[in-house]
Amino acid sequence: MIQRDEKLKGCRASKNRDEVLFVMEKTSTPLSVDDIYNKIKRKNPAISLSTIYRIVEKLLTLGILRVAATLDDNRARYELVKEGHHHYMICTKCKKMIPVDICPIEKVEHKIADKEGFLITGHKFELYGICKDCAKNSL
Ligand SMILES: [Zn+2]
Ligand SMILES: [Zn+2]
Repeated sequence: MIQRDEKLKGCRASKNRDEVLFVMEKTSTPLSVDDIYNKIKRKNPAISLSTIYRIVEKLLTLGILRVAATLDDNRARYELVKEGHHHYMICTKCKKMIPVDICPIEKVEHKIADKEGFLITGHKFELYGICKDCAKNSL
């Protein structure tokens, strides 16, 4: 939290921004701008989608949010930047993102890259498929 306050220093305090942070803090899966908008709208019907876009842009620039994934609907899903990183299983039907609590890449990435003298700065790993609920509903 201290780190985030540090990043927000010098930015004008904003109730809307705090609401976005609150929503991101409470969610267990990454959210798109529309998801965030729909959640906040329930409590604050006056808020506009473009306001949410602006806040998310700003939080990305500040390094408080990051893009967790961009799904095949071309909408980015965002998450808070925290220690470590997450991978997700993504349901191609309902677009639900289920966190994977292991990273299979970390163990092998250096083996793969060292041969080429390649310096790794990050990686992506996503599993696509059908979630439990969707599988059940399609029976
Ligand atoms: Zn699903
Ligand atoms: Zn990883």
